[in-house]
Amino acid sequence: MGLDLRADPIALTAALVDIPSESRHEQRIADEIETALRTQAPWFEVVRNGDAVLARTDLGRPSRVLLAGHTDTVPAADNLPSHIKNGEMWGCGTSDMKSGDAVFLHLAATIAEPSHDITLVMYDCEEIESSANGLGRIERELPDWLKADVAILGEPSGGFIEAGCQGTIRVVVAATGTRAHSARSWLGDNAIHKLGAVLDRLTAYQPRSVDIDGCVYREGLSAVRIDGGIAGNVIPDAASVTVNFRFAPDRSVEAAVAHVHEVFDGLDVDIELTDAAAGALPGLAKPAAAALVAAAGGQVRAKYGWTDVSRFAALGIPAVNYGPGDPNLAHKVDERVEVAQITAVTDMLRRYLT
Ligand SMILES: [Zn+2]
Repeated sequence: MGLDLRADPIALTAALVDIPSESRHEQRIADEIETALRTQAPWFEVVRNGDAVLARTDLGRPSRVLLAGHTDTVPAADNLPSHIKNGEMWGCGTSDMKSGDAVFLHLAATIAEPSHDITLVMYDCEEIESSANGLGRIERELPDWLKADVAILGEPSGGFIEAGCQGTIRVVVAATGTRAHSARSWLGDNAIHKLGAVLDRLTAYQPRSVDIDGCVYREGLSAVRIDGGIAGNVIPDAASVTVNFRFAPDRSVEAAVAHVHEVFDGLDVDIELTDAAAGALPGLAKPAAAALVAAAGGQVRAKYGWTDVSRFAALGIPAVNYGPGDPNLAHKVDERVEVAQITAVTDMLRRYLT
């Protein structure tokens, strides 16, 4: 017995959760989703790409909505199969993100005449290194399939529309000095001591909060690592602190780097950029996205952390996270989802899509 896409999305969530699908072990779940879409939602063109399943309508609607969900999970933690207790479904993948997948698949199979054309992207390997990410592979191999006016990723967002995302850079702030025996410290120049001024600037730093399209992004500039020291009797000639800047998406990576240089201006240090990922503007003012916000009753908030939303933003497509489940429970042994949220998200998206 395969997946029944027309069943209640709560039951469909349980059916998906009970197909184990740790990253790179997604052939079975992809097979079942592909078969179910081909037989139960014949108004979709269906294509298979590795362990991703893509489906789209071509009804000539004025706008296209892309619904995307990853089918992989982190390794199960002795928390399968799923079970329901006190209004919550427990198990690996219940919130991240098979409940979101279930909502999308159910809507695809029950709305034959949507008001927007729909593209459905069920993709593999989101939970591991980004070079393996199925969405990245689709972007390289089937870029045409990612064209849309708005993209909705069904990641757990507590039923809020989470839009955009912050950018992140890491820099190593390094001080140099002169090595010497600590018994004759005046012959040396202590690199660790020079970091004191760096840490003072970080402690005094006042991060911005920025409102963009109704989403408030709170920035943060933090030391995340410190290195230095040679031996218990040596004045060190090198020391560094690694600083992570999480910045609102109204700054580009270049602007963020320039800002960090400003913060440490005048200090005797070198600053090296080691890692960068751009943020994503929420883009909620665009019509297809604005209609989604309206359907959700304005329940919008900023997304913290980097997600696949940014991939769509880089393609110029407004993208949001919207799915059942508390993002803070993802990847935990006690992962679970309130089943009422599955119903609420389904109802809201049905209003939007019909
Ligand atoms: Zn996820």
